[in-house]
Amino acid sequence: MFANAARRLGYRVAVWDPDAEAPAHRMADRSITLPFSDEDGVAQFLDGLAAATYEWENVPAMLCERLGAVVPVRPGCRVLRTIQHRGEQKRFLSARGLPVAAFAEIRSAGDVDHMPSIGYPCILKTATAGYDGKGQWRVETTSDLASIKHMLPVRPTKGLSWILESVVPFVQELSVLIALGCDGRARVYPVVENVHERGILRVTTVPAPIAPEISERAQRMSAAAVSALDSPGVYCVELFQSADGSLLINEIAPRPHNSGHYTLDACTVSQFEQQVRALCGLPLGEARLTTPAAMINLLGEEAVRMTRADRLSALLAEPGTHLHLYRKKEARAGRKMGHVTVTGETADTVRTRVTRLLASLHEEAAS
Ligand code: AMP
Repeated sequence: MFANAARRLGYRVAVWDPDAEAPAHRMADRSITLPFSDEDGVAQFLDGLAAATYEWENVPAMLCERLGAVVPVRPGCRVLRTIQHRGEQKRFLSARGLPVAAFAEIRSAGDVDHMPSIGYPCILKTATAGYDGKGQWRVETTSDLASIKHMLPVRPTKGLSWILESVVPFVQELSVLIALGCDGRARVYPVVENVHERGILRVTTVPAPIAPEISERAQRMSAAAVSALDSPGVYCVELFQSADGSLLINEIAPRPHNSGHYTLDACTVSQFEQQVRALCGLPLGEARLTTPAAMINLLGEEAVRMTRADRLSALLAEPGTHLHLYRKKEARAGRKMGHVTVTGETADTVRTRVTRLLASLHEEAAS
């Protein structure tokens, strides 16, 4: 989707993904599938390259630094290092007065005995490389915590660490997409509501059904976090809203985000085009919502079923339906294979269309 936006603006795109089946390769003018640690890969990628960005925050920071010594990498390597490590990211936010859930860092089994209590229930998360709820375990009691101690040494990967985080009794998950330009100007998209199923984003609704005061506070808090990161790019700030209206930052993605896919169909300028503009030092575009919308992820086999002729005709006959299939090769359970953006004249129309589509997806899964 980034490559599409870049090509539309007249750029040529080099894609580096060690997975030869990654859909981005099909959009590339130049494609590299070597491992990220491969020196030839670095040389090949840099050949003719003017600037680099990433759409996955787990690219090795070392690689980012190698590239950054030759071409602008946006967001910069400092941002990548801060965000790659959950503990580092939370410390960064707390130090700037931005609220996050209570947390404690675990670097060794010994830390478990000397950790400040953050109360129960809490969640143990790997400090790096987790996504879609992977690498997370819920801890309900002291005895769960004691058993963690035995788990830690059997995962001796060098440099791996964990954080323990309070379970936030949120009533809503929200996110705010922000593009930051090379001139330091930010474009803030409307607050969206995200509903997850088994830790995976299922539905994003925009605008989020929340009071204007909460929406303004969410945008202000998110903009403060992004401006503290201080590097051009597209960011998504994920937030928890509690019953009393208070907001906590869950995490920040330094790239276009799944909850911003709706911008392709429902905004003046998409998150992907903003990433291209930020990367290339162009003025950012307007981040205006043109219609109420929702995005539904198609997970695993759902996307395969969606391409059946009868199903496809039925879906596309629905007004306000925009189908995006990524053509990922393997439809593993829970894998994000595509999405549908639903638009409508009013939030109610969108809600009705989403309910109908979700019901048909669940029905098909059961049959
Ligand atoms: P993450 O990968 O940290 O964004 O977590 C994935 C999902 O797990 C989030 O979107 C939440 O639904 C849930 N989650 C993560 N951390 C917490 C927390 N501290 N309290 C409650 N739910 C959480």
